[in-house]
Amino acid sequence: MDRCVLLAPAKINLYLEIIGDRPDGFHELAMVMQSVDLCDRITIARAGTQDISLKCKHPLVPSDETNLAYRAADLMRQEFAEVYARFGGVKIEIEKNIPVGAGLAGGSGNAAAVLVGMNQLWQLGLTSVELERLGAKLGSDVPFCINGGTALATGRGEQVSPLTDVQAYCAVLAKYQSLSVSTPWAYQTYRKQFESTYVREADDLAARQNRVHSGPMVAAISQKDPEQISQLLYNDLEKVVLPEHPKVQELKETMARSPQAKGVMMSGSGPTVFALAGSQADANEMVKAVRAALPDEDLGLWVAPFNTTGIRLVEA
Ligand code: ATP
Repeated sequence: MDRCVLLAPAKINLYLEIIGDRPDGFHELAMVMQSVDLCDRITIARAGTQDISLKCKHPLVPSDETNLAYRAADLMRQEFAEVYARFGGVKIEIEKNIPVGAGLAGGSGNAAAVLVGMNQLWQLGLTSVELERLGAKLGSDVPFCINGGTALATGRGEQVSPLTDVQAYCAVLAKYQSLSVSTPWAYQTYRKQFESTYVREADDLAARQNRVHSGPMVAAISQKDPEQISQLLYNDLEKVVLPEHPKVQELKETMARSPQAKGVMMSGSGPTVFALAGSQADANEMVKAVRAALPDEDLGLWVAPFNTTGIRLVEA
């Protein structure tokens, strides 16, 4: 195989609870992640030289070695030096459809796609667990992005346990195109304001994570109960991002007023807000209503059904 094309879906957080600090400087989290059908398209081809190169036309996405997808290829080069010497480098092309700096794990999904694609291209035969372990070296959301679907993510987000697929729903994603939120900023600001509430003891940390694992959101997912899921949407980071960005608060309130919206929440560190609708037709209605209420050209709206898979190989 000389070339493969992969789709990397965006993720939303149905639940995001910040539990405490970790010795490595990250936060201890309990999240419920959901893949949605808004995808970047990644092409990976043998370079015919020893180089790694990357192209992406999006103005906010770097085309150098700081791109997370480039770093994924570089990690493969280091981990499998002999295979690299035999096969040579790769050319990566990213067609960006997922908004950047949006809380939708666009960069993490691109990195996950490169790991999956190079596993194919170099015929490494790595399992999902091995790919997740490599992904964790690149970023907390990368392991989830590999298999996607619906999953509980704990630790700093890299410990992924699959949950029952929730297919009944369709998300409407809304983001002001010119606005982005830095994930480190959101977590640092949260720490400054809420550090006193952090769980300190290891036993208490485990108990809080177990509470989410055996809690109502995971139960609603197991029972495939969309009404309950909508009632239980939660994100601690809203407490710092919404006061800083009143437009995002207004957007959330506007979406919540739509009769088709079953529940509305910010995804990850934002500023994307998503609303859950019972069908694609309802989601389309909601887009029309939000567009009419907020006629701002800067506002991007996407209809993205829940997705049961992560990285998908579409051409080989
Ligand atoms: P997360 O939800 O994982 O926090 P995000 O959706 O908020 O991520 P990204 O779209 O992944 O954020 O981008 C964050 C920053 O990373 C951007 O400012 C961008 O410059 C940089 N970046 C590096 N590689 C990529 C990539 N492949 N795609 C998008 N952004 C990238």
